[in-house]
Amino acid sequence: MSDPVPTPTHRGFQIMTKPMGPKCNLDCKYCYYLEKERFYPQEKKFRMPDNVLETYIRDYIAAQAATGSNEIWFSWQGGEPTMLGVEYFRRIVELEQQYCPPGVVIRNALQTNATLLDEEWATFFKQNDFLIGVSIDGPKKIHDRYRTYRNGSGSFDKVMEGVRLLQAHEVEVNALVVVQRESARKPRDVYRFIKKAGFKHIQFIPIIERTVADGNLAGPPQTDQDIEAQISRWSVMPKDFGDFLNAVFDEWIRHDVGEIFVQFFEVQLGLWLGRPAGLCVFAEECGQALAMEHNGDLYACDHYVYPEYKLGNIMDQKMETMVMSPDQIRFGEEKRTTLPRQCRECDYRFACNGGCPKHRMLATADGEPGLNYFCGSYMRFFKHADPWMRTMAELYRRGRPLTEIMEIARQKSNRQSRRAKGA
Ligand code: SF4
Ligand code: SF4
Repeated sequence: MSDPVPTPTHRGFQIMTKPMGPKCNLDCKYCYYLEKERFYPQEKKFRMPDNVLETYIRDYIAAQAATGSNEIWFSWQGGEPTMLGVEYFRRIVELEQQYCPPGVVIRNALQTNATLLDEEWATFFKQNDFLIGVSIDGPKKIHDRYRTYRNGSGSFDKVMEGVRLLQAHEVEVNALVVVQRESARKPRDVYRFIKKAGFKHIQFIPIIERTVADGNLAGPPQTDQDIEAQISRWSVMPKDFGDFLNAVFDEWIRHDVGEIFVQFFEVQLGLWLGRPAGLCVFAEECGQALAMEHNGDLYACDHYVYPEYKLGNIMDQKMETMVMSPDQIRFGEEKRTTLPRQCRECDYRFACNGGCPKHRMLATADGEPGLNYFCGSYMRFFKHADPWMRTMAELYRRGRPLTEIMEIARQKSNRQSRRAKGA
């Protein structure tokens, strides 16, 4: 299970690489990547061969270095990449060092379900400065609902073992928290658990999966019942993600600013400050966050690993040629050029840009296709967070510490409760 990646800050691109293809030791019910196996019917092993790995590492470093970047990030995902074993990743680090130009630092981010980790992995990650994203959905009851092994048993206990190992070795970890229908209604349980488990960096990834063919969901008017009939049972209902974010935000703004980093809030603050989007979902265009399969096939985006979005293979074509190809440029621009009028005229376009095209499956109030499934959620959050974002942006511009917002928020809560008591 993977998620959108931070947009590169330099003129360049990132690739989410699947050295083990979609193979995974878990069978999470909501995973959209497991089904990619059907695109490779002949494949038995799903293991990136050494010649593909070396070509990729060499060419990716050269392409990134050409943009002037002196820090190059590799992003390893799956499936479950740790199924390849530590030796495979030792080889990766060896190749990276072999091709690393002087003055450049190479970093690795790896996304894992953490169930296969042991002392050797944790030591390796620490020694090689890996950033580890651990998929964890919340407390046991929430996590085990969908993150299961093939026999249906939950993975929570193994995940927590892995997390503790990583923490004991002081490996840098992020929590990748999938928000599904039930957990969307338990924001405090999820957030407090993740904090208590020792995570300082949190990404929330809402699940929406259509069970009907492509095209819009039920045409307007779209009642919850219309929508519910056309999405998987684990998909978040359209407005629930907004309520989830608001509840977490209220807690964060009073207690955790500067201590806990919630990617959604950090990215939004950047946008409120007028900076470029730190996450592809809220950027004006797509096209800079690509995905690569185990055999070197390069795709437009991790959310579009489909034959029609395949750009080519790195063993046949230069990576930059594919990234700059007319098809990929069109793919990127379409995010902006297909925005419905409601988005173009929206007060929060600067913070949203219509969201991820993969999620644009509703029709607008006047029937135009292409409205984001999470529009209602985003709107709820933008309206709720707006005054706080403005205040934080103002603090930042005045060179004040952002942590001052917590005192401002607490004073506001006190005033409100005094008023409520007086009333
Ligand atoms: S389609 Fe665009 S917004 Fe969505 S994940 Fe891909 S790059 Fe990001
Ligand atoms: S909040 Fe809704 S209307 Fe506004 S830009 Fe985002 S998706 Fe479009």
